[in-house]
Amino acid sequence: MATYTLPELPYDYAALAPVISPEIIELHHDKHHAAYVKGANDTLEQLAEARDKESWGSINGLEKNLAFHLSGHILHSIYWHNMSGDGGGEPHEKDGVGELADAIAESFGSYAGFKAQLTKAAATTQGSGWGVLAYEPVSGRLIVEQIYDHQGNVGQGSVPILVFDAWEHAFYLQYKNQKVDFIEAMWRVVNWQDVARRYAAAKERANTLLLAP
Ligand code: MN
Repeated sequence: MATYTLPELPYDYAALAPVISPEIIELHHDKHHAAYVKGANDTLEQLAEARDKESWGSINGLEKNLAFHLSGHILHSIYWHNMSGDGGGEPHEKDGVGELADAIAESFGSYAGFKAQLTKAAATTQGSGWGVLAYEPVSGRLIVEQIYDHQGNVGQGSVPILVFDAWEHAFYLQYKNQKVDFIEAMWRVVNWQDVARRYAAAKERANTLLLAP
């Protein structure tokens, strides 16, 4: 069975400048994301050891670590592809993104309402967290989630399709304490084609969850 591996960036470190500096991208991917990959693999090993030894004294901590590192790995893997140096603008202006643009308008009333909600959710995270646009398979709606750390405050079954990293490591070297400025700048690099691809895949997957009507 495979272990987790750090995916390569789909662009070079400077591709998202000036919105995100090359120094941040390098540290964020090569050090922070890599640490979550290692953490997930290490925790799986520790759980295997616990099973072998029938030693369950650390089970609560191990399960928490697994959720933290695995969710960190998954969110960052989405994050890199959600951004592009050619990104930005609004989804209805882009080729091949019409279904996503319609779903945003239906779920949130308008694109402006959606953008304001995701910006606020990301910019007001307390401590470390994420603002996320997710497909919710029971209702077929898009929802915004404000995630604590990498794994808390999530509706089970929802599939993240656009993720804004609001941890300080994502912006502090460049934006200092101005988290709102960073989140507002993020809209200039959103890769709407990637988000639309994830939306279509999430809708497909909903049928396999045995949740959708
Ligand atoms: Mn991060």
